[in-house]
Amino acid sequence: MTVHLRTRTIPADADAAAAAARCLDEGGLVAFPTETVYGLGADAANAEAVARLYAAKGRPAFNPLIAHVADLAAARQIARFDAAALALAQAFWPGALTLVLPREPECPVCDLASAGLDSIAVRVPAQPLAHAILRAFGRPVVAPSANASGHVSPTTAAHVMDDLAGRIDLVVDGGATALGLESTIVGCCEAPTLLRPGGIARADIERVLGYRLREPAAHAGEAPAAPGMLASHYAPRARLRLDATSVAPGEALLAFGEQLPPGADQAAVVLNLSPRGDLMEAAARLFAHLRALDGSGAATIAAAPVPREGLGEAINDRLARAAAPKDGPA
Ligand code: AMP
Ligand code: MG
Repeated sequence: MTVHLRTRTIPADADAAAAAARCLDEGGLVAFPTETVYGLGADAANAEAVARLYAAKGRPAFNPLIAHVADLAAARQIARFDAAALALAQAFWPGALTLVLPREPECPVCDLASAGLDSIAVRVPAQPLAHAILRAFGRPVVAPSANASGHVSPTTAAHVMDDLAGRIDLVVDGGATALGLESTIVGCCEAPTLLRPGGIARADIERVLGYRLREPAAHAGEAPAAPGMLASHYAPRARLRLDATSVAPGEALLAFGEQLPPGADQAAVVLNLSPRGDLMEAAARLFAHLRALDGSGAATIAAAPVPREGLGEAINDRLARAAAPKDGPA
């Protein structure tokens, strides 16, 4: 994907947080230091911005992203905390702990950012500049590491520029980050579960809880070491028929591009990922459209072919996961 932006670098001075917040507000991509590595931030509620973020990183699949907020009060507006989650947040925030929690109904984070799941990953970072940006912006910011997919995580603004110059809008240079681990991820949708080891030790978490963390249930073929694989993938109730070049009467159609497949006029419902064939737009709409078609009650969703270049690779990856046979009991 060719993206040609002029990437500005600004120092971490008194105006930096406001400038970063303004850029996020306009749908821009802003790299900034956190206590672990540089994150690449986007407005979590803006699906187009989040699609640009995946494109800028060249991320091959839409792994769910962590929503960063300024404090616990802001986190409670987007996610539901039970007693254990609250105890962990109070003990470790701000800091390197991410909690995966049930989404609140009013949660504004777009479906693309949370990969269509009913849960949401939330963190309150401690790094002062990151904190100031979140406070100035006032809404959730998704921020995976600010590197091209497959490269090592950046710990300086120069690393960010090496990978992403011309692909993002702004880099706030706050100097080198403490060479740290990624955040520890604990799932609190059911009994607290260690989803990813990281900057906060298991023993410290267990001390706060007063009991042991659960291990994630093993899924066939999913290595626990791959963080993106820890999230169960979005599974529609309807059967999903991939690369559909025609539509049977009564099927729901997930279209792409101007040309609809034969039989489209007999579809129960049609939603188009991007009538103008734009992969970024399609990525932004993917999960919301899947949910809506699933909610239409059709037994089968016919998904028209989506080109495999650029973000199309990730779109096809998530469609294939959504079409995969559901996990059995266990
Ligand atoms: P990072 O790549 O450091 O930004 O971390 C993102 C990781 O958080 C993903 O790869 C997942 O492993 C995890 N994650 C985010 N959202 C969820 C979720 N809703 N359920 C489970 N894991 C999640
Ligand atoms: Mg990363």
